[in-house]
Amino acid sequence: MPRRPQRASSSRDLERYAGLFADRTKVMTSSAMRDLMAITERPEVISLAGGLPDTSTFPPGQFAEIMGAIAQTALARTLQYGPTEGTADVKDCIVQVMEAEGTVVDPADILVTTGGQQVIDLVCKTLVNPGDVIIAEAPTYPGAVPAFSSYQADVRQIEMDADGMRIDILEEALADLDREGRTPKFIYVIPNFQNPAGVTMSLPRRQRLVQIARERELLILEDNPYGLLRYEGDPLPTLRSLDGGDFVISLGTFSKIISPGIRIGWAVAPRPVLQKMNQGKQGSDLCSSTLSQIFVSEYFASSRWTDYVDAQKQLYRRRRDVMLDALAEHLPAEATWTRPQGGLFIWATLPDGLDTTDLLARALTRNVAFVPGRGAFLDGRGGTSMRLNFSGVGDDDIREGIRRIGEVVSEQLDLLRALTGGPLATEARPPTEAGTREPDPALADVLELPRRDAGDQAARRDRG
Ligand code: PMP
Repeated sequence: MPRRPQRASSSRDLERYAGLFADRTKVMTSSAMRDLMAITERPEVISLAGGLPDTSTFPPGQFAEIMGAIAQTALARTLQYGPTEGTADVKDCIVQVMEAEGTVVDPADILVTTGGQQVIDLVCKTLVNPGDVIIAEAPTYPGAVPAFSSYQADVRQIEMDADGMRIDILEEALADLDREGRTPKFIYVIPNFQNPAGVTMSLPRRQRLVQIARERELLILEDNPYGLLRYEGDPLPTLRSLDGGDFVISLGTFSKIISPGIRIGWAVAPRPVLQKMNQGKQGSDLCSSTLSQIFVSEYFASSRWTDYVDAQKQLYRRRRDVMLDALAEHLPAEATWTRPQGGLFIWATLPDGLDTTDLLARALTRNVAFVPGRGAFLDGRGGTSMRLNFSGVGDDDIREGIRRIGEVVSEQLDLLRALTGGPLATEARPPTEAGTREPDPALADVLELPRRDAGDQAARRDRG
Protein backbone atom coordinates (compact mmCIF):
# COMPACT_ATOMS: atom_id res chain seq x y z
CA MET A 1 0.00 0.00 0.00
CA PRO A 2 1.38 3.46 -0.83
CA ARG A 3 2.43 5.45 2.22
CA ARG A 4 0.97 8.87 2.83
CA PRO A 5 3.62 11.57 3.08
CA GLN A 6 4.09 12.83 6.65
CA ARG A 7 3.47 16.51 7.32
CA ALA A 8 3.66 18.69 10.37
CA SER A 9 0.30 19.60 11.92
CA SER A 10 -0.90 23.07 11.03
CA SER A 11 -2.84 25.51 13.22
CA ARG A 12 -5.92 24.56 11.19
CA ASP A 13 -5.43 20.92 12.17
CA LEU A 14 -5.15 21.94 15.79
CA GLU A 15 -8.34 23.96 15.54
CA ARG A 16 -10.13 21.01 14.07
CA TYR A 17 -9.29 18.74 17.01
CA ALA A 18 -8.96 21.20 19.88
CA GLY A 19 -12.64 21.08 20.80
CA LEU A 20 -12.36 17.32 21.27
CA PHE A 21 -9.50 17.37 23.75
CA ALA A 22 -10.21 16.54 27.40
CA ASP A 23 -9.57 19.25 29.99
CA ARG A 24 -6.58 17.36 31.32
CA THR A 25 -4.73 17.82 28.04
CA LYS A 26 -4.58 21.57 28.65
CA VAL A 27 -2.10 21.07 31.45
CA MET A 28 -0.29 18.10 29.94
CA THR A 29 3.38 18.71 29.34
CA SER A 30 6.03 16.77 27.59
CA SER A 31 8.99 15.59 29.64
CA ALA A 32 12.12 17.63 29.02
CA MET A 33 14.01 14.40 28.37
CA ARG A 34 11.50 12.97 25.89
CA ASP A 35 11.58 16.17 23.84
CA LEU A 36 15.33 15.96 23.71
CA MET A 37 15.48 12.29 22.74
CA ALA A 38 14.79 12.99 19.05
CA ILE A 39 17.67 15.48 18.79
CA THR A 40 20.08 13.47 20.86
CA GLU A 41 19.61 10.38 18.72
CA ARG A 42 21.68 12.12 16.03
CA PRO A 43 25.05 10.33 16.07
CA GLU A 44 27.09 13.56 16.11
CA VAL A 45 25.45 14.75 19.35
CA ILE A 46 27.12 13.91 22.65
CA SER A 47 24.10 13.44 24.85
CA LEU A 48 24.49 13.96 28.56
CA ALA A 49 20.72 14.45 28.57
CA GLY A 50 19.29 10.93 28.76
CA GLY A 51 19.12 8.69 31.77
CA LEU A 52 20.53 5.88 29.76
CA PRO A 53 22.33 2.95 31.29
CA ASP A 54 25.06 1.57 29.01
CA THR A 55 23.27 -1.34 27.33
CA SER A 56 26.24 -1.98 25.02
CA THR A 57 27.84 -3.89 27.91
CA PHE A 58 25.20 -6.63 28.02
CA PRO A 59 26.89 -9.84 26.74
CA PRO A 60 25.42 -10.68 23.28
CA GLY A 61 26.17 -14.40 23.74
CA GLN A 62 24.17 -14.51 26.94
CA PHE A 63 21.28 -12.68 25.31
CA ALA A 64 21.27 -15.17 22.41
CA GLU A 65 21.42 -18.12 24.80
CA ILE A 66 18.46 -16.88 26.82
CA MET A 67 16.38 -16.17 23.73
CA GLY A 68 17.33 -19.56 22.26
CA ALA A 69 16.28 -21.32 25.46
CA ILE A 70 12.98 -19.44 25.46
CA ALA A 71 12.33 -20.46 21.84
CA GLN A 72 13.05 -24.10 22.67
CA THR A 73 11.18 -24.43 25.94
CA ALA A 74 8.61 -21.70 26.48
CA LEU A 75 7.65 -20.23 23.13
CA ALA A 76 3.85 -20.57 23.23
CA ARG A 77 3.68 -19.16 26.77
CA THR A 78 6.05 -16.34 25.82
CA LEU A 79 3.90 -15.30 22.88
CA GLN A 80 0.74 -15.35 25.01
CA TYR A 81 -0.97 -12.78 27.30
CA GLY A 82 -0.06 -13.12 30.96
CA PRO A 83 -1.70 -12.25 34.27
CA THR A 84 -2.11 -8.52 34.98
CA GLU A 85 -0.18 -8.77 38.25
CA GLY A 86 2.79 -10.43 36.50
CA THR A 87 4.20 -13.94 36.25
CA ALA A 88 5.06 -15.82 39.44
CA ASP A 89 8.63 -16.37 38.20
CA VAL A 90 9.38 -12.71 37.63
CA LYS A 91 7.91 -11.87 41.04
CA ASP A 92 10.46 -14.25 42.58
CA CYS A 93 13.22 -12.27 40.83
CA ILE A 94 11.75 -9.04 42.20
CA VAL A 95 11.75 -10.51 45.71
CA GLN A 96 15.50 -11.21 45.27
CA VAL A 97 16.26 -7.68 44.06
CA MET A 98 14.33 -6.12 46.91
CA GLU A 99 16.05 -8.41 49.39
CA ALA A 100 19.41 -7.17 48.07
CA GLU A 101 18.16 -3.65 48.85
CA GLY A 102 17.21 -4.74 52.38
CA THR A 103 13.46 -5.00 51.88
CA VAL A 104 11.54 -8.22 52.53
CA VAL A 105 8.37 -8.56 50.46
CA ASP A 106 5.63 -11.09 49.87
CA PRO A 107 5.14 -11.83 46.13
CA ALA A 108 1.40 -11.30 46.65
CA ASP A 109 2.13 -7.62 47.36
CA ILE A 110 3.83 -7.09 43.98
CA LEU A 111 2.33 -5.71 40.77
CA VAL A 112 4.60 -6.15 37.74
CA THR A 113 4.42 -3.07 35.53
CA THR A 114 5.57 -1.73 32.18
CA GLY A 115 8.61 0.03 33.60
CA GLY A 116 8.73 1.97 36.81
CA GLN A 117 7.17 4.82 34.87
CA GLN A 118 3.87 2.98 34.81
CA VAL A 119 3.89 2.84 38.59
CA ILE A 120 3.94 6.65 38.75
CA ASP A 121 1.07 6.76 36.29
CA LEU A 122 -0.96 4.08 38.10
CA VAL A 123 -0.44 5.66 41.50
CA CYS A 124 -1.77 8.95 40.10
CA LYS A 125 -4.60 7.17 38.31
CA THR A 126 -5.56 5.46 41.57
CA LEU A 127 -5.22 8.38 43.97
CA VAL A 128 -5.33 11.76 42.26
CA ASN A 129 -8.43 13.79 41.41
CA PRO A 130 -7.91 17.09 39.52
CA GLY A 131 -6.51 19.68 41.92
CA ASP A 132 -5.32 17.14 44.52
CA VAL A 133 -1.98 17.83 46.15
CA ILE A 134 1.12 15.73 45.54
CA ILE A 135 4.27 16.58 47.47
CA ALA A 136 7.56 16.08 45.63
CA GLU A 137 11.18 17.06 45.95
CA ALA A 138 12.56 20.23 44.40
CA PRO A 139 13.90 19.34 41.87
CA THR A 140 11.96 16.18 41.02
CA TYR A 141 12.30 13.43 38.40
CA PRO A 142 11.58 15.16 35.06
CA GLY A 143 9.70 12.08 33.82
CA ALA A 144 7.21 12.37 36.69
CA VAL A 145 6.26 15.90 35.62
CA PRO A 146 4.07 14.88 32.64
CA ALA A 147 2.41 12.18 34.75
CA PHE A 148 1.59 14.61 37.56
CA SER A 149 0.38 17.27 35.15
CA SER A 150 -1.80 14.91 33.11
CA TYR A 151 -3.72 14.05 36.29
CA GLN A 152 -4.04 17.81 36.98
CA ALA A 153 -2.30 17.52 40.32
CA ASP A 154 -1.31 20.52 42.42
CA VAL A 155 2.34 19.67 43.03
CA ARG A 156 4.12 21.25 45.99
CA GLN A 157 7.88 20.87 45.69
CA ILE A 158 9.97 20.80 48.86
CA GLU A 159 13.57 22.00 48.84
CA MET A 160 16.44 19.60 49.28
CA ASP A 161 19.92 19.95 50.64
CA ALA A 162 22.85 17.56 50.85
CA ASP A 163 20.76 15.22 53.04
CA GLY A 164 17.74 15.07 50.75
CA MET A 165 14.27 16.53 51.21
CA ARG A 166 14.20 19.17 53.99
CA ILE A 167 11.78 17.56 56.43
CA ASP A 168 11.40 20.81 58.37
CA ILE A 169 10.10 22.48 55.20
CA LEU A 170 7.89 19.48 54.51
CA GLU A 171 6.35 19.89 57.96
CA GLU A 172 5.73 23.59 57.29
CA ALA A 173 4.08 22.69 53.99
CA LEU A 174 1.89 20.08 55.70
CA ALA A 175 0.87 22.62 58.33
CA ASP A 176 0.00 25.12 55.54
CA LEU A 177 -2.11 22.44 53.88
CA ASP A 178 -3.83 21.70 57.20
CA ARG A 179 -4.82 25.35 57.35
CA GLU A 180 -6.19 25.09 53.81
CA GLY A 181 -8.11 21.97 54.90
CA ARG A 182 -6.21 19.83 52.41
CA THR A 183 -4.33 16.55 52.64
CA PRO A 184 -1.73 15.50 50.08
CA LYS A 185 -2.57 12.30 48.26
CA PHE A 186 1.05 11.15 48.46
CA ILE A 187 4.62 12.25 49.01
CA TYR A 188 6.87 11.35 46.09
CA VAL A 189 10.54 10.83 46.93
CA ILE A 190 13.62 9.28 45.34
CA PRO A 191 15.74 8.64 48.43
CA ASN A 192 18.81 7.12 46.70
CA PHE A 193 20.99 9.18 44.31
CA GLN A 194 18.03 11.29 43.42
CA ASN A 195 17.16 11.96 39.80
CA PRO A 196 18.07 14.71 38.96
CA ALA A 197 19.94 16.08 42.01
CA GLY A 198 22.18 13.08 42.76
CA VAL A 199 21.49 13.51 46.48
CA THR A 200 20.80 10.72 49.00
CA MET A 201 18.34 11.14 51.86
CA SER A 202 20.06 10.69 55.24
CA LEU A 203 18.91 8.04 57.72
CA PRO A 204 17.45 10.51 60.26
CA ARG A 205 15.38 12.12 57.51
CA ARG A 206 14.17 8.73 56.26
CA GLN A 207 13.12 7.84 59.79
CA ARG A 208 11.38 11.16 60.34
CA LEU A 209 9.61 11.02 56.97
CA VAL A 210 8.23 7.57 57.71
CA GLN A 211 7.22 8.70 61.20
CA ILE A 212 5.31 11.67 59.73
CA ALA A 213 3.59 9.41 57.20
CA ARG A 214 2.52 7.03 59.97
CA GLU A 215 1.35 9.78 62.32
CA ARG A 216 -0.66 11.50 59.59
CA GLU A 217 -1.61 8.33 57.70
CA LEU A 218 -0.11 9.67 54.48
CA LEU A 219 1.14 7.56 51.61
CA ILE A 220 4.72 7.82 50.38
CA LEU A 221 5.73 6.77 46.87
CA GLU A 222 9.34 5.61 47.23
CA ASP A 223 10.94 5.60 43.78
CA ASN A 224 14.12 3.53 43.91
CA PRO A 225 15.55 2.69 40.48
CA TYR A 226 19.17 3.33 41.52
CA GLY A 227 19.46 1.84 45.02
CA LEU A 228 21.80 -0.95 43.89
CA LEU A 229 24.04 1.40 41.90
CA ARG A 230 26.03 2.63 44.90
CA TYR A 231 29.68 3.53 44.23
CA GLU A 232 30.73 4.47 47.75
CA GLY A 233 29.41 4.64 51.30
CA ASP A 234 27.06 2.25 53.09
CA PRO A 235 23.55 1.43 51.88
CA LEU A 236 20.72 3.01 53.85
CA PRO A 237 17.45 1.25 54.69
CA THR A 238 14.58 1.75 52.27
CA LEU A 239 11.55 3.71 53.46
CA ARG A 240 9.49 0.58 52.92
CA SER A 241 11.70 -1.44 55.28
CA LEU A 242 11.48 1.32 57.90
CA ASP A 243 7.71 1.53 57.57
CA GLY A 244 6.94 -2.18 57.24
CA GLY A 245 4.59 -1.57 54.32
CA ASP A 246 1.58 0.28 55.75
CA PHE A 247 2.17 3.68 54.20
CA VAL A 248 4.90 3.19 51.61
CA ILE A 249 4.38 2.25 47.98
CA SER A 250 7.69 1.03 46.51
CA LEU A 251 8.60 1.54 42.90
CA GLY A 252 11.34 -0.65 41.44
CA THR A 253 12.59 -1.44 37.96
CA PHE A 254 14.93 -3.70 36.01
CA SER A 255 15.77 -0.75 33.75
CA LYS A 256 19.03 0.19 35.44
CA ILE A 257 20.17 -3.30 36.50
CA ILE A 258 19.36 -5.21 33.28
CA SER A 259 17.80 -3.08 30.53
CA PRO A 260 15.26 -0.28 30.09
CA GLY A 261 14.30 -1.74 26.69
CA ILE A 262 12.59 -4.71 28.30
CA ARG A 263 10.23 -2.24 30.10
CA ILE A 264 9.69 -4.24 33.28
CA GLY A 265 9.23 -2.53 36.63
CA TRP A 266 7.10 -3.14 39.70
CA ALA A 267 5.09 -1.71 42.54
CA VAL A 268 4.80 -3.05 46.06
CA ALA A 269 1.89 -1.45 47.85
CA PRO A 270 -0.63 -1.97 50.65
CA ARG A 271 -3.17 -4.54 49.35
CA PRO A 272 -6.18 -2.21 48.84
CA VAL A 273 -4.01 0.25 46.88
CA LEU A 274 -2.43 -2.58 44.89
CA GLN A 275 -5.86 -3.90 43.91
CA LYS A 276 -6.91 -0.53 42.53
CA MET A 277 -3.61 -0.17 40.70
CA ASN A 278 -4.16 -3.61 39.20
CA GLN A 279 -7.58 -2.49 37.91
CA GLY A 280 -6.00 0.68 36.55
CA LYS A 281 -3.40 -1.39 34.74
CA GLN A 282 -6.07 -3.61 33.20
CA GLY A 283 -7.42 -0.50 31.51
CA SER A 284 -3.97 0.63 30.40
CA ASP A 285 -2.33 -2.45 28.93
CA LEU A 286 -3.88 -5.69 30.30
CA CYS A 287 -0.47 -7.03 31.27
CA SER A 288 3.21 -6.24 30.80
CA SER A 289 5.16 -8.01 28.08
CA THR A 290 5.24 -11.76 28.73
CA LEU A 291 8.38 -12.04 26.59
CA SER A 292 10.19 -9.53 28.77
CA GLN A 293 9.07 -11.17 31.99
CA ILE A 294 10.22 -14.59 30.82
CA PHE A 295 13.49 -13.05 29.65
CA VAL A 296 14.06 -11.72 33.18
CA SER A 297 13.27 -14.99 34.89
CA GLU A 298 15.48 -16.99 32.47
CA TYR A 299 18.27 -14.48 33.03
CA PHE A 300 18.01 -14.87 36.80
CA ALA A 301 17.85 -18.66 36.50
CA SER A 302 20.84 -18.94 34.15
CA SER A 303 23.34 -16.52 35.73
CA ARG A 304 24.18 -14.48 38.81
CA TRP A 305 22.30 -11.25 38.15
CA THR A 306 24.48 -9.37 40.64
CA ASP A 307 27.60 -9.92 38.46
CA TYR A 308 26.27 -7.58 35.77
CA VAL A 309 25.24 -5.01 38.38
CA ASP A 310 28.77 -5.14 39.84
CA ALA A 311 30.31 -4.61 36.41
CA GLN A 312 27.97 -1.67 35.70
CA LYS A 313 28.84 -0.14 39.04
CA GLN A 314 32.54 -0.19 38.26
CA LEU A 315 31.93 1.39 34.87
CA TYR A 316 29.63 4.13 36.17
CA ARG A 317 31.83 4.92 39.15
CA ARG A 318 34.69 5.66 36.75
CA ARG A 319 32.47 7.73 34.46
CA ARG A 320 31.17 9.71 37.42
CA ASP A 321 34.76 10.51 38.39
CA VAL A 322 35.64 11.48 34.82
CA MET A 323 32.69 13.86 34.76
CA LEU A 324 33.53 15.36 38.16
CA ASP A 325 37.11 16.00 37.00
CA ALA A 326 35.91 17.53 33.72
CA LEU A 327 33.47 19.81 35.55
CA ALA A 328 36.27 21.03 37.82
CA GLU A 329 38.38 21.75 34.75
CA HIS A 330 35.79 23.40 32.51
CA LEU A 331 33.06 25.07 34.55
CA PRO A 332 33.65 28.56 35.95
CA ALA A 333 34.52 29.05 39.61
CA GLU A 334 31.03 30.37 40.38
CA ALA A 335 29.36 27.09 39.33
CA THR A 336 28.62 24.29 41.80
CA TRP A 337 27.57 20.70 41.32
CA THR A 338 26.61 17.65 43.34
CA ARG A 339 28.90 14.69 44.00
CA PRO A 340 26.60 11.66 43.92
CA GLN A 341 27.51 8.47 45.77
CA GLY A 342 25.69 6.43 43.14
CA GLY A 343 23.06 6.58 40.40
CA LEU A 344 23.47 8.23 37.03
CA PHE A 345 23.26 12.01 37.45
CA ILE A 346 25.09 15.15 38.50
CA TRP A 347 23.13 18.37 39.05
CA ALA A 348 25.11 21.48 38.19
CA THR A 349 24.08 25.02 39.08
CA LEU A 350 25.42 28.10 37.32
CA PRO A 351 25.60 31.68 38.55
CA ASP A 352 22.42 33.73 38.73
CA GLY A 353 21.57 35.39 35.45
CA LEU A 354 22.42 32.38 33.27
CA ASP A 355 19.55 30.34 31.91
CA THR A 356 20.14 26.70 31.07
CA THR A 357 17.16 26.54 28.68
CA ASP A 358 18.81 29.24 26.52
CA LEU A 359 22.15 27.60 27.06
CA LEU A 360 20.87 24.28 25.72
CA ALA A 361 19.97 25.87 22.38
CA ARG A 362 23.57 27.09 22.12
CA ALA A 363 24.99 23.81 23.34
CA LEU A 364 23.05 21.93 20.67
CA THR A 365 24.74 23.98 17.95
CA ARG A 366 27.94 22.41 19.32
CA ASN A 367 26.39 18.98 19.39
CA VAL A 368 26.15 18.49 23.10
CA ALA A 369 22.96 18.13 25.16
CA PHE A 370 21.87 18.14 28.81
CA VAL A 371 18.49 18.44 30.54
CA PRO A 372 17.74 22.06 31.53
CA GLY A 373 16.80 22.37 35.21
CA ARG A 374 13.31 23.74 34.55
CA GLY A 375 12.24 20.26 33.42
CA ALA A 376 12.54 19.14 37.04
CA PHE A 377 10.08 21.71 38.39
CA LEU A 378 6.41 22.37 37.82
CA ASP A 379 6.62 25.99 38.86
CA GLY A 380 9.19 27.51 36.54
CA ARG A 381 12.16 27.20 38.90
CA GLY A 382 15.45 25.53 37.99
CA GLY A 383 16.52 28.03 35.32
CA THR A 384 20.16 28.11 36.45
CA SER A 385 20.59 24.34 36.83
CA MET A 386 21.17 21.41 34.52
CA ARG A 387 21.07 17.64 34.84
CA LEU A 388 24.09 15.80 33.48
CA ASN A 389 24.10 12.04 32.87
CA PHE A 390 27.40 10.19 33.14
CA SER A 391 26.36 6.58 32.46
CA GLY A 392 25.32 6.67 28.81
CA VAL A 393 28.52 7.77 27.01
CA GLY A 394 32.21 6.85 27.18
CA ASP A 395 34.98 8.71 29.04
CA ASP A 396 36.19 10.69 26.03
CA ASP A 397 32.70 11.87 25.16
CA ILE A 398 32.09 12.89 28.77
CA ARG A 399 35.29 15.00 28.74
CA GLU A 400 34.52 16.51 25.33
CA GLY A 401 30.85 17.10 26.19
CA ILE A 402 31.70 18.94 29.40
CA ARG A 403 34.43 20.91 27.61
CA ARG A 404 31.87 22.14 25.07
CA ILE A 405 29.33 22.96 27.78
CA GLY A 406 32.08 24.85 29.63
CA GLU A 407 32.80 26.90 26.51
CA VAL A 408 29.16 27.85 26.05
CA VAL A 409 28.83 28.74 29.74
CA SER A 410 31.96 30.95 29.60
CA GLU A 411 30.69 32.78 26.54
CA GLN A 412 27.33 33.44 28.19
CA LEU A 413 29.02 34.56 31.38
CA ASP A 414 31.24 37.01 29.47
CA LEU A 415 28.19 38.39 27.74
CA LEU A 416 26.34 38.76 31.00
CA ARG A 417 29.29 40.48 32.66
CA ALA A 418 29.52 42.87 29.72
CA LEU A 419 25.81 43.65 30.04
CA THR A 420 25.74 43.99 33.82
CA GLY A 421 29.20 45.56 34.03
CA GLY A 422 30.63 43.59 36.93
CA PRO A 423 31.29 40.26 38.62
CA LEU A 424 28.33 38.01 39.27
CA ALA A 425 27.03 37.10 42.68
CA THR A 426 27.71 33.56 43.79
CA GLU A 427 24.75 31.91 45.41
CA ALA A 428 24.97 31.02 49.08
CA ARG A 429 25.60 27.49 50.29
CA PRO A 430 22.55 25.89 51.86
CA PRO A 431 22.26 25.61 55.61
CA THR A 432 23.08 22.09 56.76
CA GLU A 433 20.40 20.01 58.38
CA ALA A 434 21.09 21.23 61.89
CA GLY A 435 22.12 24.65 60.65
CA THR A 436 25.50 24.39 62.40
CA ARG A 437 27.39 21.41 61.08
CA GLU A 438 29.74 21.82 58.11
CA PRO A 439 28.57 19.90 55.03
CA ASP A 440 30.09 16.45 54.73
CA PRO A 441 32.48 16.77 51.77
CA ALA A 442 31.63 13.22 50.70
CA LEU A 443 28.03 14.25 50.25
CA ALA A 444 26.51 16.30 47.52
CA ASP A 445 27.17 20.00 47.45
CA VAL A 446 23.72 21.33 46.71
CA LEU A 447 22.88 24.93 46.18
CA GLU A 448 20.05 26.53 47.99
CA LEU A 449 17.12 26.49 45.63
CA PRO A 450 14.73 29.42 45.54
CA ARG A 451 11.56 28.96 47.56
CA ARG A 452 8.42 27.90 45.80
CA ASP A 453 6.36 30.85 44.77
CA ALA A 454 2.71 29.81 45.15
CA GLY A 455 1.56 32.75 43.03
CA ASP A 456 3.87 31.75 40.22
CA GLN A 457 2.53 28.18 40.20
CA ALA A 458 -1.09 29.33 40.24
CA ALA A 459 -0.36 31.73 37.39
CA ARG A 460 1.15 28.94 35.31
CA ARG A 461 -1.87 26.74 35.95
CA ASP A 462 -4.19 29.54 34.93
CA ARG A 463 -2.26 30.02 31.73
CA GLY A 464 -2.85 26.29 31.11
N1 PMP B 1 11.78 6.94 38.33
C1 PMP B 1 12.97 7.51 38.20
C2 PMP B 1 13.50 8.35 39.30
C3 PMP B 1 13.71 7.34 37.03
O1 PMP B 1 14.89 7.93 36.92
C4 PMP B 1 13.18 6.54 36.00
C5 PMP B 1 13.90 6.34 34.69
N2 PMP B 1 14.90 7.13 34.36
C6 PMP B 1 11.93 5.96 36.20
C7 PMP B 1 11.25 6.18 37.37
C8 PMP B 1 11.27 5.12 35.15
O2 PMP B 1 12.05 4.05 34.78
P1 PMP B 1 11.54 2.86 33.89
O3 PMP B 1 10.18 3.15 33.40
O4 PMP B 1 12.53 2.71 32.80
O5 PMP B 1 11.56 1.67 34.80
